[in-house]
This record gives sequence, C-alpha cells and structure tokens, in this order.
Amino acid sequence: MTPPRIRVRFAPSPTGELHIGNARTALLNWFFARRCGGELVLRIEDTDRIRTTDAFEETLLDDLKWLGIDWDEGPGAGGAYGPYHQTGRLEIYGDCLRRLIAEERVYPCYCTEEELKAERADLFSRRTAPRYLGKCRRLTDGDRRRLENEGRLPAWRFRVAEGPIVFNDLIRGAMTFQGEAIGDFIIVRSNGIPAYNFAVVADDHFMEISHVIRGEDHLSNTAIQVLLYRALGFAPPVFAHHALILGKDHTKLSKRHGAVSVREFRRRGIMPEALLNYLAILGSSFDDGREIRTAWELIEAFSLDRTGKGGAVFDEEKLLWLNGNYIRRYDPQALTDILIPFIRAAGYDERSFRREQLEGIVAAVRDNLSTLTDIGDFLEMFDDDRYRMSEEAAALLRGEEAKTVLLALRKALIPLAAGGEGGIVLEPAPQYRGIIGIVRSIQDNKTGLKGKKLYLPIRAAVTGRLHGPELDRIFTLLGPVSLLRRVEEALALS
Ligand code: GLU
Repeated sequence: MTPPRIRVRFAPSPTGELHIGNARTALLNWFFARRCGGELVLRIEDTDRIRTTDAFEETLLDDLKWLGIDWDEGPGAGGAYGPYHQTGRLEIYGDCLRRLIAEERVYPCYCTEEELKAERADLFSRRTAPRYLGKCRRLTDGDRRRLENEGRLPAWRFRVAEGPIVFNDLIRGAMTFQGEAIGDFIIVRSNGIPAYNFAVVADDHFMEISHVIRGEDHLSNTAIQVLLYRALGFAPPVFAHHALILGKDHTKLSKRHGAVSVREFRRRGIMPEALLNYLAILGSSFDDGREIRTAWELIEAFSLDRTGKGGAVFDEEKLLWLNGNYIRRYDPQALTDILIPFIRAAGYDERSFRREQLEGIVAAVRDNLSTLTDIGDFLEMFDDDRYRMSEEAAALLRGEEAKTVLLALRKALIPLAAGGEGGIVLEPAPQYRGIIGIVRSIQDNKTGLKGKKLYLPIRAAVTGRLHGPELDRIFTLLGPVSLLRRVEEALALS
C-alpha cells in the first residue's frame, strides 16, 4: 500500500494584516510540507463578506512571499483541488448540508439575533457557559411553517449528542470535550453562508488534507469539527495544535503589546530572513542551541514535537539581534538596494547621493543597524543640513580637554580642506588615516590625552553623537570641508 500523501494547508481569513501568530502557523505548515516532501495548500477563508477585502488578501499573499513561504496550490499557483477561495465553494457546502438535512443530523433554527442574545445574557447572569439551549430542536412541522410564513429564514444547526468527544492531538495527546458544553451549533447561517467549522471540514476533506496544523486557540473548534467529520462519514485528518505567541504578560500577543503584523515588522525594517528565523525558533528548542539558521537548515531540523506545548513569549530584543545579524550578511551594494525604500521613507531622495557615496555610507553604518529604518538616523548624520548635535555630545564638547583635541584636529584639517572635498570611496581614504595619525600624535606628544578622551570629542564633533560607525570611514565620507565646518561649530560650543 502506498503511504498517504502529506498535504497540509494554511487557511487565513483576509480580514486584516497577517498576524505574526498566523505567519508562524503558515511557517510550521510550510516546514512540515517541505520536510516530508508533501504539499502546502493556501486556502482563502473569505466567507466574512463584511471584513474580507481584496487589499488584505493581496497584502497577505505578498507578506507570505516576502517571508519566503511558497505554496503548491492556491491563489497564483493553481492546483487540482480548487477553487481555493471559500466563496467559490458554496456548492460543495450546499451538497454537504443537503446530506445532513436528509439524515436529520441538522435542524432549521429560526431564532433571531436578539433572541439568541437574550438567551446568552440569561445564561451569563446564571453563571452558566453560553450555548444554544435547543429551542428550535423541538419545533413541529407546523411551528416551522408558521415561522416561515412570518418571513423568517432558517439557519441550520447541528444536533450535538451529550457525552465526550475525544480526539488525538499530535502535540498534546488525547483531548476530550463534552457535547453538552458545546450545544447545538450553526453550520449554515440564514443568509446561506457556511459557518467556519462546517466549511473547514468540507474543504479539508475534499482537498485531501492529511494534517491540520494550527494554533491551540482552535482546539475547541476541532471538537466541533470532529463531530462533523463523523456525521459526514469523512475520515478526520491528523491534528496538531501548536502553542500561541504570548506577550511579556503571558497573554496572547495582541496589538496592545506593540507590532503584531508581518506588515508592521516589514515597515519597521525587519528583514524577512530574521523574522522567519525568529518565528521558527520561538518556542522551539534545537539540540545544539544554535539560533541563527537559514530557512533550509530550519526545514532540515524541523519536527512537530519541537514546536513545544508551552506558549512562547515574544522577545523583541532577540528579533532585533537576529535582524542585525542578517543585515550584516549583505555586502554594501546589495544592502544599499534593500535600503532604498527606507532611505525614501526617511525623507531622502536617493538620487541626491552618488551611488558610491550611498554605498560608502551603507558600508560605514552597516554594523550599527539593527533595523533598516535606522538608516534614516545615519543619513542625517552625513547630511550637513540635517545633522544635529545631541545633548550628550554637546555636553562632552564643552570640556577643556575636548577643546585641546578639536584645536589640534582643526589644524590638521585646514590644509586638506583647502585642497577640496576629497574622494568618497568604500574604504577609508589614505589621507584620513593620516588624520588619525595626526590625532594620535596629539596623544603621544602634547596633550597626554588618549583613548576615549581623544576619540570621543572627535566623534561628538563630527557626528553629533557618542556612538556610531568607525571614525576613519566617517572622515572619508564627510570629506575635509564638512569635517572642518563641524569642528568649527563644535569649538564654538566651548
Ligand atoms: N480561517 C481560520 C483562521 O484564520 C483558519 C483556522 C484553521 O486553520 O482551521 O483562524
């Protein structure tokens, strides 16, 4: 017998930007499919016609691609199990509904939203878990005709038997829910639109999904879905519910914790490799403790049991650390291309720089970037019109020792500035190594100043801050005229 094919799916609802929790679900499905040589299906769950938009769907597909996740079937990829949008599959749900009606597994429910709301409120006031108490289960044919004559359209509810609903979860083991706690649930609403649990069972069955990997917030839905699989005579897939991403306060990561969508992290200058790597190691443990891994290394090492049962706390610091690591993997030429949109977003026209000048700046600041948006700050540092002196730099420059250093530096710069702007190259230009040499001679001979006492005033004067890229690169990029101007300005402070 040939073993069953591995088919998994990611089934987002495009009602907002892709949450990183959902992106992690997509990633785990992708890893699993690629690890096992299986197929990943992308299914768009677009039955919520009010909140679903084409723009959200477009963003969603784009964000998945940006992360490096590809799918074998679904929008843009085709496939033999389509349509891949739920709104294109209404006939399939209709067929399933007719079977359940014929077998009396469902009944029409005429309760209005107000009536249901009142029932929920009543249960709540009696401290009982909200569920449908089965009013329409007991209607006679006559009652139904009367209600329909009033113009009421029925929803269809599934008859839930009392007793345990048991299923196995690959990550959590045996799970048990009680039918009486669930109550009869709607599978098709009065407007003909299927409820999530119903559509998902029909889709996962007809798309021949072998493994359903999703967040543990769906566990109670799975109990409902198991009932529907049984009623429809479908074999259920293997279920694996992974833990959710948590905020620092150990509640589910949400907007109040900060950025939560892939788009927001993108806008904030996180690299796709870093976000993918971070989401993959979050809540997982690898034997060798190595944290920086490429997508292929992650796929090779992937196993569902490693995703862990416990919730994983989102650690922004670690993401930024990974991001810096990935930024440093790019050479200045390629990194400059990646940075162009961020340069524009910071209010600069990249065409106002010569390309080699831009690459020089990128080469100089690359090690200091933890996000791509940081480039804005550094461009400001290299821009005579926008550069600002920070408070701490100004304070340092007011000291007597700083003045001694700056006077010596000014003296060294005057002849160079008279000779012109100087070249802009990737490597520090020799004349500025010369400057450092001159500065060093201040240290050796006259002032006795060395180390930080020597370099910090120089850094503060020419960059306006106390931390940043290597000084000789900054000298090269600014050129003697700018340098001299900044040193003069700094001297004017003291
Ligand atoms: N559309 C559902 C969601 O985004 C899919 C859940 C599932 O994977 O079944 O939560």
